[in-house]
Amino acid sequence: MKITAAIARTKGAPMTIETIEIDEPRDDEVLVRVVATGVCHTDMVMRDQLLPIPLPAVLGHEGAGIVERVGKSVSKVKPGDHVVMTFDSCGACPSCSEHEPAYCHAIVPLNFLAGRADGSTGLSKGREAIHSHVFGQSSFASHALCHVRNVVKVPDTLELEKLGPLACGVQTGAGTVLNALKVRKGKSVAVFGSGTVGLSAVMAAKYAGAAPIIAVDLVDSRLAMARELGAPHTINARRADVAKEIMTATTAGLDYAIDTTGVPEVIGQAVSCLAPRGSCAVVGAVTPGALLPIDGSQLMSLGRSVRGVVEGSSDPDVFIPKLIEMHLEGHLPYDKMIGYYPFSAINQAIADSETGKCIKPILRMDQA
Ligand SMILES: [Zn+2]
Ligand SMILES: [Zn+2]
Repeated sequence: MKITAAIARTKGAPMTIETIEIDEPRDDEVLVRVVATGVCHTDMVMRDQLLPIPLPAVLGHEGAGIVERVGKSVSKVKPGDHVVMTFDSCGACPSCSEHEPAYCHAIVPLNFLAGRADGSTGLSKGREAIHSHVFGQSSFASHALCHVRNVVKVPDTLELEKLGPLACGVQTGAGTVLNALKVRKGKSVAVFGSGTVGLSAVMAAKYAGAAPIIAVDLVDSRLAMARELGAPHTINARRADVAKEIMTATTAGLDYAIDTTGVPEVIGQAVSCLAPRGSCAVVGAVTPGALLPIDGSQLMSLGRSVRGVVEGSSDPDVFIPKLIEMHLEGHLPYDKMIGYYPFSAINQAIADSETGKCIKPILRMDQA
């Protein structure tokens, strides 16, 4: 079948919208007509080859759409169902068996090698293979092939085009607070970085009853959004002494710190602001091989902990419905971060995300 897709052909270059072919779904796959897809920072990381996936490839991993066809062994969804597309996992390894698919032992081949587990791709242009299945979906396209495990059915009464970000950015930030750190009422939280992930962490911290909630960023407009979404205390790290302000706002330092920047110095600072028994979650992508500047003596003597968190430690089949419920109850107004773009403006949407002009761009496919 012919589809329209945005193709990343060379490192760092704008994507080109082309007509290509997509395979019929295999027995365990689902073909989805994409309605809308969020732009996530990891898409840029892959385009720029900081995460070196094979090119040419179709990126995009916050897809929302309608099931068009399913493989023979698929019973979880049927044609016509509304779904969001999330990260893929194997379903059989020790992590998947314990409902921790974000730590699937096959997370890299299933999400970051731009192909199926057997190395094949589901997309082509004439004789040229186009890499597919990025985050199990490659949803910068009119249609996406997913594995049955990485589609989550959503109610068809909801506005489908705004649901995609629940499947990566929102799930990552909110899940870090609610699933990984299990933030409790009255505990202090600081979130470093106020993009989609950080702001989702702020909303979830407010939901959990944390106090004070502090947001740290370099961009004033993002900090204004953080205040609107639940962090009354904001710090612009370009102008203020972050550690001093955090110590003033808390009694003995932070109970929880969440780093969404992936910058080693910021992570080191976040850890240095922890109270005794405080925990820091490292959520932002740290460059492979980078070491963190953490005082080991203080880590030990203050009983601090530091842990990595992927996709908010979420089991998407359970957590995405929970996020929808929170949103409908008014606790997760993530739509305040959204700006809509036609699919044809994908490169502009990415540019606006990089400059901070739009926190969460969503591409509408019907306007291709
Ligand atoms: Zn993402
Ligand atoms: Zn697994």
